[in-house]
Amino acid sequence: MPVINLSLLDILLLLLAPAVGSFLGVLALRLPAGQDVVRQASACDHCRQVLSWRDLVPLLSWLALGGKCRHCATPIPVVLPLLEAGAVFLALLAIWRMPSDVQALTGAGFLWCLLVLFVIDLTHFRLPDVLTGTVFVLGCLLAVLDPWRGLNSALIGAIAGAGSFWLIRIAYARLRGREGLGMGDVKLMAGLGAGLGAQALPLLVLLAALGALVWAGAQALRQNTSLQARTALPFGSFLCLAAGILLLGNA
Ligand SMILES: [Zn+2]
Repeated sequence: MPVINLSLLDILLLLLAPAVGSFLGVLALRLPAGQDVVRQASACDHCRQVLSWRDLVPLLSWLALGGKCRHCATPIPVVLPLLEAGAVFLALLAIWRMPSDVQALTGAGFLWCLLVLFVIDLTHFRLPDVLTGTVFVLGCLLAVLDPWRGLNSALIGAIAGAGSFWLIRIAYARLRGREGLGMGDVKLMAGLGAGLGAQALPLLVLLAALGALVWAGAQALRQNTSLQARTALPFGSFLCLAAGILLLGNA
């Protein structure tokens, strides 16, 4: 049995995680719609009733309400409790896997951003700049906190990640005459390269490509169609998933 000693910072992280999970839900629903994520009060999407604190306690409110709005009984999007539970789960993994409590806190922030990017790219085929930018900042911080890396390693990783994807993007557009990789993927790769280091990038892209291929195959089977080059793929989601696995696997 591994003994886990929780520091004060770890406890703070675990207390913070459910609230962060709620905020990730706000981001996942409002960012793709271009809505304000800070000032606008939480309200039911269906009946527009502003929600009180009783309806906003992470996970517990959802369970107490049976997954439905208190006012109009419309089902609450299931992605909300999933993100709340996911944020807590990722905080636990970060505390377990990262070498120090400061790295666990930074790593959890990195993983939380990847989680919400995973959801937004999967549902809207978008990777908002505010999130890929935060991934880049936290990725640099992870490298600085790692005694074997440092800021130089973060910047080399960022240039390698974004540069390679930018070249693929241009080559694809020239050859096919349409956009294959979005700029969001290029920006995301800058943050993932910074956080994981240049040497992790080949495995990252391989894992993401395998994940995307399995996903596309499952979609084709489900819809009973053949796999086509034109099928839109949320490749950013699979980059996020692979990056999370590599960060926790290598830590
Ligand atoms: Zn309602």
